[in-house]
Amino acid sequence: MDTPAKAATQLSHLLDFASQAGHFERFPVDVEQLALDIAGQFRFDDPVVAVQAVDLQTFEAGLFKVDDGWALLYSERIRSAGRMRFSQAHELGHYLLHRDKQEIFQCSQQDMVAWGSVEHLLEAQADEFASSLLMPLNHLRQQIDESRVDFQMIGQCAEMFGVSLTAAALRWVSATLESAVLVLSRDGFVDWAVSSERARKNGAFFRTRGRVVELPSGSIAADSARATDKMGSSVGAHIWFEHADKGAVLREMKLLCDSYGYILTLLHLSPSERVWAPWSASR
Ligand SMILES: [Zn+2]
Repeated sequence: MDTPAKAATQLSHLLDFASQAGHFERFPVDVEQLALDIAGQFRFDDPVVAVQAVDLQTFEAGLFKVDDGWALLYSERIRSAGRMRFSQAHELGHYLLHRDKQEIFQCSQQDMVAWGSVEHLLEAQADEFASSLLMPLNHLRQQIDESRVDFQMIGQCAEMFGVSLTAAALRWVSATLESAVLVLSRDGFVDWAVSSERARKNGAFFRTRGRVVELPSGSIAADSARATDKMGSSVGAHIWFEHADKGAVLREMKLLCDSYGYILTLLHLSPSERVWAPWSASR
């Protein structure tokens, strides 16, 4: 198994096949069972022998070489089922992709909230594996009407896949052919932003690495009187992208994720709306 996406797709085919044969519900993916079964499926001689919630102090989940194989441990303090599932899938990713490289993996802050700041290649790969395994694209596309996407639709999807809404929204933005940007912000500033491929081509992206990016005034995100706008409202595209056509509008959706203290914003632009800066006279 080489790339994270390939490894996840291979497992997804197996799960599709087994669930069609009526052996179990396809979603949410039972990662614990999958981890325990997988060595038998692929004839690995170093199986995952335990998947356990334990009292972890300094990290959230981990994968450890033990005498007869590997132990997949996660913190008993993780409250949300979606976050726990994502952590398990992330560690399963390390098992499938990286166990010949290290004997100890200790991982923190998963569940995609730290997406933009994951710099370590192995961590990014384990996240990509988890996301692909828990939300296969063919199933995701059946659930979402691309042209009318909103946080309610993504929320229903997240529930079906048993993941957090943030993880489902990220998966959708990374895969869609629409022009869309997902922004995570705290206290009025952008933590990270991810653009769909179409949005990037049209100039709709934010450079947040090593920069302080304030939420634009006039945006719904910056309006503290509106905690939530799941279906979205029209705002002038130039509010978010200063070089957009003056008459152009985009749909802005907003969700306050209270327990984690951040705001999630989804910007949905017209696929033909280009917001690049004009060439300056000095060039
Ligand atoms: Zn990890």
